Amino acid sequence: METILDAHLAHKYWNNLSAAKLQALLEAANTGGAVLEVRSIEIGREALLFIGLIPDASVGAKGNALQRRPMIVSRSLGNFHTTWAALLGASEHTLGFLVLHHPLTLRGVMRRSDREDVWVAAQVKRDLDSLPPMSMGDHCCNLCNEPIAKERLRAIPGVRICTKCQTIKEEMKS
Ligand SMILES: [Zn+2]
Repeated sequence: METILDAHLAHKYWNNLSAAKLQALLEAANTGGAVLEVRSIEIGREALLFIGLIPDASVGAKGNALQRRPMIVSRSLGNFHTTWAALLGASEHTLGFLVLHHPLTLRGVMRRSDREDVWVAAQVKRDLDSLPPMSMGDHCCNLCNEPIAKERLRAIPGVRICTKCQTIKEEMKS
């Protein structure tokens, strides 16, 4: 098995993302886990941050948006089900599907989007250090994890907070 991301994480490659999703769901069903639909991977010096959504997650929304990044801590990680095309270039939004084993612990504030999906980040320790720090896929907000709109990224290069969170922040200041 070949690994693109140098992390302690088993990769499974499929022909397309629907096959990857199906296999991730089967694995999660068999092991009592949940599936994180990965939209962004931030590569740091010591860890990879997989950011994405858990569709229809059964966790409650609480608190306000301005606490630290919602993180999910899994007892153990399953496979990362993906495709070569998604990892190398990504014409699609989704980079793959990461199986998180039960029980999951949630850290930080959970928010729901309009579709009742929960955006979270999951941290995976790196094994090697061959990849430079970078980010793959969508750029996600440092506060709520949701993707930052392309127009905003173009207008303010390097911005790390989405419009929604920025507005809440400014309202709190005034
Ligand atoms: Zn945000």
